[in-house]
Amino acid sequence: MPETSNTQIKSGGYIANLPSGFIQPTDAVGQRILKDYGALFVARGGAVPPNTAIFKNEAEVSAYQASLSKSNENLGGFSIELQAAAMKKLKDAIAEAKQADLSITPRGADSGKRDYSGTVELWASRVNPGLVNYVSKGKLPQAEANRIKALSPFEQVPEIFKLESQGMFFSKDLSKSIVYSVAPPGTSQHLSMLALDVSEHENAKVRDVLAKHGWFQTVVSDLPHFTFLGVAESQQPGLGLKKVNDGGRSFWLPSL
Ligand SMILES: [Zn+2]
Repeated sequence: MPETSNTQIKSGGYIANLPSGFIQPTDAVGQRILKDYGALFVARGGAVPPNTAIFKNEAEVSAYQASLSKSNENLGGFSIELQAAAMKKLKDAIAEAKQADLSITPRGADSGKRDYSGTVELWASRVNPGLVNYVSKGKLPQAEANRIKALSPFEQVPEIFKLESQGMFFSKDLSKSIVYSVAPPGTSQHLSMLALDVSEHENAKVRDVLAKHGWFQTVVSDLPHFTFLGVAESQQPGLGLKKVNDGGRSFWLPSL
């Protein structure tokens, strides 16, 4: 699968600006992923987004990551790897922040790149306690929980979405959808090496500096999470992205 970096913004909105050869999902899970995480796929500024909404396994992720131009830096004591274009702009943002006595640092060692197994572990860290909880509350039969637990992570995703549609949520505090807490396996923006979880995300000045350098918030209510889109805010509507205001912050989501 040849990935190319886009620089042009085409007329025709979000769909027109997806990578060439992008496999448009036709199933409900894929469409949900596109809606909730899809800003990444129209990234510009030298970014190379994947041409699939969901990586099915480690081999697909490894092949994609191996095809990218990457950059590794020690940031705030952590070794962070990102796509080279995203890292360059991040370092510009860090330098500008420093002028104003602000810092921009990753939250931890897995705040930049992740591999497929990392996303599987995070997914299980929400799904398994959630299942135990709903069984103990009498909302879910033990046999049904066992059946879901035994499925592959890929097969679990529609099952968890189904339970959530019945009011059983799987975020860490069980109050909202799992997609606002951890990404379903193979869908994390961190697999694309175009995302960073930032410690100082609560500082509006930090968010402004990041935005000025092409880093925006694109996953509603995932507060530390920033995505490299490589454009100015004024260019986002041209890419088919819309601004969603939530909790005093701006998030950019596909206009679908
Ligand atoms: Zn993140």
